[in-house]
Amino acid sequence: MDESIATRRSRHPGKKTSPMSYILAAGIALLILVIAVAIILGTAQLKLVLSQGSDITLEYGQSYAEPGASASLLFFKTDVQTQGQVDSSKLGEYTITYSASLFGKTATVQRTVKVVDTTAPTITLMHNENAFTLPGHEYQEEGFVAEDNYDGDITDRVQKMVADGYVHYKVTDTSGNVAEVKREIVYNDITAPELTLLGNATVYLTAGKDFVEPGFTAIDDAEGDISTKVQTTTDFNKYTPGTYSVTYTVTDNYGNSTQTTRKIVVSAVGQQPTIDPVGGVIYLTFDDGPSQHTLRLLDVLAKYDVKATFFVVGTAGIGHLEEIAAGGHALAMHSNTHDYDEIYASEDAFFKDLYAIQDKIFQRTGIKSTLMRFPGGSSNMVSRFNPGIMTRLTQAVEAQGFQYFDWNVDSKDAGGAKTADEVYNNVINGCKTRSVSVVLQHDIHGYSVDAVERIIQWGLANGYTFEALTPTSPTAHHPVNN
Ligand SMILES: [Zn+2]
Repeated sequence: MDESIATRRSRHPGKKTSPMSYILAAGIALLILVIAVAIILGTAQLKLVLSQGSDITLEYGQSYAEPGASASLLFFKTDVQTQGQVDSSKLGEYTITYSASLFGKTATVQRTVKVVDTTAPTITLMHNENAFTLPGHEYQEEGFVAEDNYDGDITDRVQKMVADGYVHYKVTDTSGNVAEVKREIVYNDITAPELTLLGNATVYLTAGKDFVEPGFTAIDDAEGDISTKVQTTTDFNKYTPGTYSVTYTVTDNYGNSTQTTRKIVVSAVGQQPTIDPVGGVIYLTFDDGPSQHTLRLLDVLAKYDVKATFFVVGTAGIGHLEEIAAGGHALAMHSNTHDYDEIYASEDAFFKDLYAIQDKIFQRTGIKSTLMRFPGGSSNMVSRFNPGIMTRLTQAVEAQGFQYFDWNVDSKDAGGAKTADEVYNNVINGCKTRSVSVVLQHDIHGYSVDAVERIIQWGLANGYTFEALTPTSPTAHHPVNN
């Protein structure tokens, strides 16, 4: 209390305050205080505050720890009642109700707890060792498992798509979380194609006949029919009796290869090797070819395994030398140009021509022949414009290591004979009276070639042997007329 007021009051004893008035004053003051407190308490709010806010999101699997709440009214605190539960093993929204009361006041607040799943599922791919997919074929599933932290095994919900060499796997859990994985498809093929030969595994042919492929199929496990990829190689030679093979090879896109073979047995109709010919020897010789008739002549000769001699010329493209050689016949020289005026103009001109045809044969077949026949024969008179040339040449060719041949049976196919019958008759009539016949024919004439099979059949039937000329064969030389 203020000192001066107290002093002043004590100095005015005349104005005394009664005890009753003190009590009254105190009562009034108390009443005012009570009323004031009542008014303050009556207007104040009971505050209920949630820790960590009103909304809580909880990942599935996390346990819910109640953060609690506090209740207060002015400086008074009170307990908070909590109602409601959170089941964090089940997705959903949970409501927790908090309530408190104090001084007759109550407060209620709710909190929402969401249990959510934001975790994506997993897809696990199985791999079989050595598994592969055939090109062009569907991928064979090796297996997969899809698991979700909430849904569990959701393998049956996996959606698959194949694109660009991959298998794409996708799965979505009930909360919309997506998992995607992909698997590269391993394409491979380790199985060789199946190669099947149509027709017989062994084909029997008469010499001179062409081999006609009976066909084949090749089936690959990945590519299907790959018959067009089959490659064939063969050593077949229709002109020479023997056993040959055709090799078939097919390889798929992955390098798997299959190979098989077919046998071709080529045999001749007639002639067997004769050591001591009964009826004699016939040397069939053909001049001025090859021509368009030569191949079928070779076929006929092969059919009977008859060897002949071809005095070839270098004109007209000189085809079929290889086939003549393949048939085992004697390749011999006639002339490069067959131009009498040119080759009989001089010895040099003659040899130049002779070496030219020898070289052509060699270039084409590797055969260096020394067998020759003069154009017109050694007895020709077309060379008389150069007196004595044949006398000199017949000596010179032998001096240079050549053997020249004339003939002793003329088919006359270059002159009087114009049909196969005439050629045939001329030849067999000539051969009948001889033990050694060197027959002149020209394979540039179709009718002459036509007569050959019958000549051979007649000869074989009558005990003749057909042979090709060699350097030591009878030469059937003519008397030289120039
Ligand atoms: Zn000729």
